[in-house]
Amino acid sequence: MFSNELLRGLKKWRGSRRVTLRQIIDKLNDRCLFLRREGLYFVNQFLSAHLYSKYSHPKRRRPERAKLRAMSPRSITLALLAFPLFLTAAPAPTVATVAEAQAFMDRAEAELLKLGTLLQRAGWVQETYITDDTELLSASENEKLIARTTELIDEARRFESLNLPADLKRKFLLLKLSLTMPAPKDAKLREELTQVAASLDSSYGKGKYCPGGGKEPCLGIDDLDERLAKSRNTKDILNYWTGWHKVGAPMRTRYARFVELSNQGARELGFADTGALWRAGYDMTPEQFSAELERVWKEVEPLYKELHTYVRHKLIQKYGAEAERTDGMIPAHLLGNMWAQEWGNVYDLVAPPQAPPAYDIGEILQQRKTTPKQTVQFGEGFFKSLGLQTLPDTFWQRSMLTRPADRDVVCHASAWQVDLDRDVRLKVCLHGTTDDFITVHHELGHIYYYLAYRTQPFLFRSGANDGFHEAIGDAIALSITPEYLQKIGLIKTIPPPAADLPLLLRTALDKVAFLPFGLMIDKWRWEVFSGQVKPADYNKAWWQLREQYQGVAPPVDRSEADFDPGAKYHIPDNTPYVRYFLARIYQFQFYRAMCRAAGYTGPLNRCSVYGSKAAGDKLEAMLAMGQSKPWPEAMKRMTGDDRIDASAMMEYFQPLLTWLKEQNKGEKAGWTVAANPMKAH
Ligand SMILES: [Zn+2]
Repeated sequence: MFSNELLRGLKKWRGSRRVTLRQIIDKLNDRCLFLRREGLYFVNQFLSAHLYSKYSHPKRRRPERAKLRAMSPRSITLALLAFPLFLTAAPAPTVATVAEAQAFMDRAEAELLKLGTLLQRAGWVQETYITDDTELLSASENEKLIARTTELIDEARRFESLNLPADLKRKFLLLKLSLTMPAPKDAKLREELTQVAASLDSSYGKGKYCPGGGKEPCLGIDDLDERLAKSRNTKDILNYWTGWHKVGAPMRTRYARFVELSNQGARELGFADTGALWRAGYDMTPEQFSAELERVWKEVEPLYKELHTYVRHKLIQKYGAEAERTDGMIPAHLLGNMWAQEWGNVYDLVAPPQAPPAYDIGEILQQRKTTPKQTVQFGEGFFKSLGLQTLPDTFWQRSMLTRPADRDVVCHASAWQVDLDRDVRLKVCLHGTTDDFITVHHELGHIYYYLAYRTQPFLFRSGANDGFHEAIGDAIALSITPEYLQKIGLIKTIPPPAADLPLLLRTALDKVAFLPFGLMIDKWRWEVFSGQVKPADYNKAWWQLREQYQGVAPPVDRSEADFDPGAKYHIPDNTPYVRYFLARIYQFQFYRAMCRAAGYTGPLNRCSVYGSKAAGDKLEAMLAMGQSKPWPEAMKRMTGDDRIDASAMMEYFQPLLTWLKEQNKGEKAGWTVAANPMKAH
């Protein structure tokens, strides 16, 4: 009964392969990411949010030089042998009482808190002082926590049929849902699943392509994606794209087996399939959840279509016939990202002629010789202006704000709650750039969420659902406006609203362009897990969805000999994805709710809630709920609305939408999906 995150934790710690930083970063980008909480190798996503609290920053960053070292292969065997031991303890068929269930849960929470804290401490040391020893110590804590959690989930089955009070019932559900890869009870099948999952992950990790044939070095996905992002030579771009996508083909059979085994585990837990289990974490039925997503997609689709039309036109101007298709779709390799999921890397090709922003935060910080601590204090100042508390002294004593000169560390920004209480920390390597300034505000969003829900029972110390934590950090970062910068004395004059357009476009290339991709990944997986899509149609179904939602088409013919889903990290890695879609919509809802509370009435993209106690009250009331109530209640507490709603995002981008429509006059908007979605032209 262990989750994929558990396995991933083991695998990565245990050195079944080396993890490249690009994989981590890719993964963090989509989550922290976005549940990017799912930090470095793994762990914090591994037991839902509860057992390991760390969120990293969603923004794409350059790969760091720090090394992640391979670990002793001997320990893999130990871990695999260890699992069946816990699993033989099948629950005795005695009649349980509500009082027993309560006592069981109290003990379980106390125990998990203790083990989780030990793991966090080991994880912190490991990431801020990378050595073989710290990796092994951290792996060891990880293993203990996994083992105990596995037992507890199994023991909890005794209480399944009881009529429990709502809070207690919720805790049992949260415990059970911490398995994103449910495994069958049968020990042999369980072991097979472990191995298949590990080998898929490993195939991705070891994936290489040699773009220059034998003459140049072979590259992994981090280098290939970077080259694809920077190159403006279509022959090279196509070479990187097709080369990397070869990584999927050998995974196909194993992926099909993985789906079978994981589904069996889900059925044994009482779910229709693994996809249904994933959707059970949203306080509604899987069908309702799917329908809600479709509703929201329809709200943002007009904006996406205008952006698509505009970018397509610019790409055709740049690349000519190679970018043009009669059906209006964009060839998937030309958008500056291996998966065409975010398009910010082609900003230079689509930028409007307006003047660049009148200020550069990074330059200003450097001129003023702002120290890393002062940069973080700007962030703290933002939250204090909302009436939130001062950060604990230990935050300043224990955080890592710059790269140490004498040792390897993981520099990727992340926010920690080491004791699931007041011991919160930031780990980041600041250089005084604009990105750093935004990162600090974002990460402190996670920190203040931790501090607000720390008095909740252990299992409720988490975001209201897995889209909330990231959305909070991003909502705060949206408040970094010229007006805010003027108030804190970083700039003197506020540029006119017309100067906002380049920034809005740049933001949309990442946040809006991502939406259909964020949606289709799990749409594909839900269909695969439910059996609606059979292995013989894996690739066809993948491209059908990409074309339908994203309007992008394969640059070369594809077939069922390929397995393009395998070329996207989260598929072989088995990380649920729809949370990233949710976070991108929620952040604008949260932001608008705070702006309204602050009494702001201007254009939404110019709103900063800096200095508003009323906005802070709204924010804190929701943060303090943690995961104690169904997420619609948390949403309602802050926004007055109990559902996901894209109208705030649409309002934010309204000036851009107007401008795009103007630019797109005479262009045929949208696209038609090809009869054969795997055909290039
Ligand atoms: Zn984050």
